[in-house]
Amino acid sequence: MAKATGKKAAAKQAAPKKAAAKKAAAPTAKKAAAPIVKKAAAPKKAAVLKKVAVPKKAAAKKASASSPADQKNLLQQLFVDGLKDIYWAEKHLTKALPKLMRAATSDQLKQAFEEHKVVTEQQIGRVEQVFQLIGVKAVAKKCEAMEGLTKEADSIVSETQKGTMSRDAGLILAAQKVEHYEIASYGGLAQLASTLGLEEAKNLLGQTLQEEKDTDERLTQIAVSSINVEAEKEKGPVKEEENKEDNMQENKGEKASENQESDPV
Ligand code: FE
Ligand code: FE
Ligand code: FE
Repeated sequence: MAKATGKKAAAKQAAPKKAAAKKAAAPTAKKAAAPIVKKAAAPKKAAVLKKVAVPKKAAAKKASASSPADQKNLLQQLFVDGLKDIYWAEKHLTKALPKLMRAATSDQLKQAFEEHKVVTEQQIGRVEQVFQLIGVKAVAKKCEAMEGLTKEADSIVSETQKGTMSRDAGLILAAQKVEHYEIASYGGLAQLASTLGLEEAKNLLGQTLQEEKDTDERLTQIAVSSINVEAEKEKGPVKEEENKEDNMQENKGEKASENQESDPV
């Protein structure tokens, strides 16, 4: 206790942490914190405390409030960054999903993409609600991963034949990668919200998480119930470019190293 009190006097931020850890320390923390707050008009840490907006009432109630708030802040920043990231990702998806819908062959898959666009718009609204709950302006921050995933979907469209089930199988593959990214994002954010004591935010994020899982499952069902089976029967010419590339590499004695690398040995 004596050591802890000494530290409190020396490092103002650190003191209340220990007070929080032990209930018995709370009264000491009150005593220690009171003179510090009065004297600490100029130092930077006083400014930080003001920004953190620990109200006087809260300070009076619990002298330890300022320090845990600081600790939470770092995690809160991470949470906010994650929200901005998924906010961008979802907005981006509302533009990508109609493209996938138009590219799809089967009505079943077209419908799935169309419906998920509507769901995605609701999810955007939910992210905005979370921003509102934590008093932060809803701002989107570019999600490189989602941009990459939608580019990959574009590649599948350009590399597959229009009107084939093979293209649909590829679109499902691409869309499931997107869903899995979202599942990871919302799962993580919901956990952070829980840790931060943001129950309502956690519930909202959890709701979206479930929708992404349902979508993933639905895509799997579409794939295994019909599309993959039909795609398996499809025959078509091997892409000319690939033939040329393969022949060139073989002629040069350069065994397609990329292909070899991708072969599971
Ligand atoms: Fe989503
Ligand atoms: Fe991201
Ligand atoms: Fe989704």
